[in-house]
Parts: sequence; C-alpha cells; structure tokens
Amino acid sequence: MTHADLDQSPEPWLTNPFDDDKLKEECGVFGVIGTAEAANFVALGLHALQHRGQEAGGIVSYDADAGFQQARRFGYVRDNFTSHKVMETLPGELAIGHVRYSTAGNKGQTAIRDVQPFFGDFSLGGAAIAHNGNITNAEALRKELVERGSIFQSSSDSECIIHLMARSMGRTIPDRMEEALRKVEGAFSVVAMTRTKLIGVRDPLGVRPLVLGKIGDGYALSSETCALDIIGAEFVREIEPGEMVVITNKGIESHHPFRPAKSRFCIFEHVYFSRPDSILGGRSVYETRENIGRELAKESPVEADMVCPVPDSGTPAAIGYSIQSGIPYAMGIIRNQYMGRTFIEPTEQIRNMGVRLKLNVNRALIKGKRVILVDDSVVRGTTSRKIKEMILDAGAAEVHFRIASPPTAWPCFYGVDTPQREKLLAATMSEDEMREHLGVDSLKFISLDGLYRAVGEAQGRNPKSPQYCDACFSGEYPVAPSDQITNGFELKTAAE
Ligand code: SF4
Repeated sequence: MTHADLDQSPEPWLTNPFDDDKLKEECGVFGVIGTAEAANFVALGLHALQHRGQEAGGIVSYDADAGFQQARRFGYVRDNFTSHKVMETLPGELAIGHVRYSTAGNKGQTAIRDVQPFFGDFSLGGAAIAHNGNITNAEALRKELVERGSIFQSSSDSECIIHLMARSMGRTIPDRMEEALRKVEGAFSVVAMTRTKLIGVRDPLGVRPLVLGKIGDGYALSSETCALDIIGAEFVREIEPGEMVVITNKGIESHHPFRPAKSRFCIFEHVYFSRPDSILGGRSVYETRENIGRELAKESPVEADMVCPVPDSGTPAAIGYSIQSGIPYAMGIIRNQYMGRTFIEPTEQIRNMGVRLKLNVNRALIKGKRVILVDDSVVRGTTSRKIKEMILDAGAAEVHFRIASPPTAWPCFYGVDTPQREKLLAATMSEDEMREHLGVDSLKFISLDGLYRAVGEAQGRNPKSPQYCDACFSGEYPVAPSDQITNGFELKTAAE
C-alpha cells in the first residue's frame, strides 16, 4: 500500500479555541462502492460530515492496478481532498473515509498516525476501517493485545479492531471483523473495506448513526443522510443496531452477529450533533429541534419581547419556542460564518476576546428588550456567561436562558468529547445555582420527558427501559464504561 500522509501537527486554529464550551462529536464515516472515482464521492460525503470532526480526515481507496492507496491530512476536507494532485492518488470504485475531532489540550496533540481509516494487511488481503464511537474497554483490550505481541501504531482505541482481526482465525475478513467486534464494548458505527467489499456495522445498541444509500449501480454508507444528499445518493435505510452489511458488486448481505439488544440511540444526536437537514430514525432533525423549542415553551414560559437563538445550533429550537409562545423570533445574535480561518495563530489577546470573535450582538434590536435566548446545551457555562454579558452590554432589559437539552451532568464515553464530570456546570450546581452563576433573570432546561416527547415518544421516557441513550443527562450508562470504572470513575449511586 502506498500513501500520501503529511506528518505534521495540526494548525492551532483547527482545534477551534473559540468553541471549547460544546460537546463535540468525534467522528464521521463515509464509504462508496460501485462508482468510478469513488474517492471523489467520499471526499464530498466527508465534506458534508465536517461538523462531526474538523481536525483531520483520511481516505483509503482500492483499485485493481494501483492496490490500496491512502491519504490522510490535518485540516478541513475542502482544503485537502479537492486537489487533483491528491485525488488522482486515490483511484478505484471502492473507497472509505473518516473525519475526526480531537482536543489538542487535554488529550495531547494528535499525530497523523491517529488519523483514520486504519489499514491492516492480513494473510487474506488488506482491509481498512473507519470508526465512529468509542470502545469502552479499549485500554483493557490494548493491554492484553500488547502482552501477546501486537504492536500498536496509534494511540486510538479504534486500532484495537485491526489487531483483534489479525488474531482471529476467521476464514474471511467479514468473519474476522465479526469476531473482533464481539470482543469490543461501547459504541461503534464502522465503515470498512476489503478489495471487493464495503462493510458497515453498528454496535448492538446502535448508539451512533449509520445509513445506507444507493448511488447509480453502487452503494454508499454514511454517518448521516445529509452526506448522501450531497452526492445525489438515494437514502435506502438505516443500518439496524447490531447489524453488519457486506456490500459487493452482487448486492447486499445482512448479518446479525451480536446478541440482540434493545436499541439505545444517542438522543443528543437529535439535539445537537447531527445536521438539521439529516433524517434520524425516520424523523427530520430540524423538526425534532423545533419540537424541542415548542416543548420548552410549554414547560417554561416567560414574558418577553423576543426569542433569539444562540446561532447556529439553537436556531430551530428558538423558532419552535417562538411559534408556541407567540413571542416574535429575532436574530439578536449574529454569527461570523468565517471564524476559524481568520487568525492563523491566535495571540493570547485575540484568544481572550473569545466568543466575541464568533458571535456579535445585534445592538439596535436588543436595546431595552426582554430577551429569551435559546441554546442547545450548557456544558461548562463559560460561553453562556459571555453571551449574557454581551447581551446586557447591548442594553437588554432582561435575559432569560432556555436550553434545548436537560442539564449535562455526566460525561459521555461513547464517542463524544466531554469535559471531566467536575467541569460540567450541572454536575456541581443546582438549576438555581447555575442561574445565579450565569447571572441571568431565569434559566430553564427542557425536562428529560419533554425531550423524549419532542423526539416522538408521546409518553416520555420509560424509566424502566429508556428508549435512547441519555447517560450524559441521567447518569444511566447503557454500557458500563469499564476502562473508566477501572480508572476510578464512579457510576451514579441510588441516592443521586
Ligand atoms: S452519553 Fe449523551 S452524548 Fe453520549 S451517546 Fe449517550 S446521549 Fe449521546
């Protein structure tokens, strides 16, 4: 296999120091089989999935003459996978790709070797994998594999899958993959390829999304439907929780290699991670977010002059709140769409300007008004405080925060970058204390039941058997995070 990797550190602005108060989805995956220049379609798909990871991206392709080829780069897809020079190194009718996010600070600087897809050269032939999610027993697996002689190339949990496949005695690569994934705990949506097959797998609970599309005579697999739209592929269906699809020129085989389990899809995908033009579980993400706003208005009404979103992710919920409450919707905060590329190396002084670089208050609109601000979540609360200050500086009479998710009081261990529990505002403060800390006139979060109603569960959350993963709100983890527990993480007690 040849490859065109650039082993350089990511530019500092790519870690987006201005947006560190949001939970961040860590990956997006995409694959295509059966179309000429498949890698070009993968690049377009990854571009549409860029919101799931901005730090780095990679593509692996296969062509009978050229063999497996790969290119991995730090930075945006549009800056790396649009040039002829790169794309002509990725020929063939079969390709997969991956975009990733990783924090530069607390997790250490990412090296190019951590950028997926990962490739393994097995006696049966090569295979590449791209993984969205997080393996919750990766530390234990890695330790065991290293003790038995595996040599890891990266610091990524996903590489365990390749080593487990290498150790398997399965007769085909899909067999080996099944065996490897049965040893893995946690959340995984995997897109993989061999010389002739495109493979898609979701973990038994289906925590992270994965969808199937049809393009001409070929097929595509994607984290979200919005990436099928960009290549003109038709949405066929979601890959089911616990399902593995093996796609060749002859068609699709479906396997169910895991013990059946009740689906626990990530409810936060509906609130924030997925793009609003995607469809999840047959529901428009945009409509769900508007429903969340309506539920919030029913649960937490307040007298005010205008409803303003914290752009962009708060927008559909703010529209829903406005419709339900009858209070006019207004763009009280304007987002600078071009943030991120403006300052090649932010100085400390520019860093301290923080949120002002990204968001600006529409002063003429705000002055003297009672403003309801709708945001998707409160994580550390640092951004919320700054936004409140900006709104008050602009002369607002009152500021009321309405949040489109319940208080985020627990970390996610299933592929979303979350601060440690003690850094989460809701882990250490009551709602009233948070209101005081943020210095706003009122603060209300949607209830967990309200959120479930907004995603279509008319009776709300079933406490005995929740329909979704909501661990970051409830502290009830559908898969015990075993590495974390070994490292001292304490699960919720009965009293909490
Ligand atoms: S813990 Fe939260 S963010 Fe993580 S998978 Fe569950 S619902 Fe999604």
